[in-house]
Amino acid sequence: MDKIRVIVAGPRGKMGKAALEMVASDERLELAACIDRKHEGERVGDIDGLPSLDAEVYTDAARCMSEVEADVLIELTTPENGYLHTKLALENEIRPVVGTTGFTEEQLNELTALCEEKKLGAVIAPNFAIGAVLMMQFSKWAAKHMPQVEIIEKHHDQKLDAPSGTAVKTAQLIQEVRDSQKQGHPEEKEAIEGARGADVDGMKIHSMRLPGLVAHQEVIFGGLGQTLTIKHDSYNRESFMSGVKLSCEKVMELDVLVYGLEHLLE
Ligand code: NAP
Repeated sequence: MDKIRVIVAGPRGKMGKAALEMVASDERLELAACIDRKHEGERVGDIDGLPSLDAEVYTDAARCMSEVEADVLIELTTPENGYLHTKLALENEIRPVVGTTGFTEEQLNELTALCEEKKLGAVIAPNFAIGAVLMMQFSKWAAKHMPQVEIIEKHHDQKLDAPSGTAVKTAQLIQEVRDSQKQGHPEEKEAIEGARGADVDGMKIHSMRLPGLVAHQEVIFGGLGQTLTIKHDSYNRESFMSGVKLSCEKVMELDVLVYGLEHLLE
């Protein structure tokens, strides 16, 4: 089987490092280059803390994607750069696999249209952990029968976007099966602004940020005399890597943008 040549954007980050380790130990994937904010022209393996892979580091994403022969971009940076890198990849016929969260709906629509125009595949997944995908699917099912629901998501304190992409995606899936409804007392008032969390169609999302956490979410359903909690925990970044690997392989067969890992699972 042909190798899949990947560019990793954000190699020194927590997710980027885990992705490089996954690529280093994978037979099908081969590192073509990295896009970083530092270390222009250096070899990846010469950078402290990164696996000994022999590929060049570029600080200029546009130059990297036009010069390097690559099939897939693994994008793991920040929302703003992630969007620019994803667009650049598509313009250079490189298929993006995007873990970066925080893209707006408008950006997602634009990238979907660009994939259609270019007939190129892309995968954008707010959560690459298989367990988290199952949590979202089970939540959608539960919401049909228990429509009163609140989401609590907990992440490490370096996370830039809130609520998390996973919480937003969970709420969107629940919206597909649940009529819009206000929850709580009809006359409830917040004594301190934000006390009831963010509101999606009456569903509340609460975001917690603390050191020590990685990525955790509880979806809590309330009914008469009962609650149901569907909970998922990622304890380290390895939890996301089987989803990244699967996406790198599947994206080669796609000619549209797929949003959410669940669409790639059998
Ligand atoms: P992180 O540790 O802060 O890493 C981000 C990295 O991106 C940093 O090394 C940063 O460099 C680098 N960076 C920033 N701008 C860049 C640019 N223009 N070019 C190249 N590199 C650039 O964050 P993380 O925890 O790895 O998370 C990265 C993204 O993945 C976030 O959006 C996060 O929400 C998302 N995430 C997704 C999943 C999923 O399953 N989809 C799971 C976890 C996290 P500096 O160090 O120099 O700032």
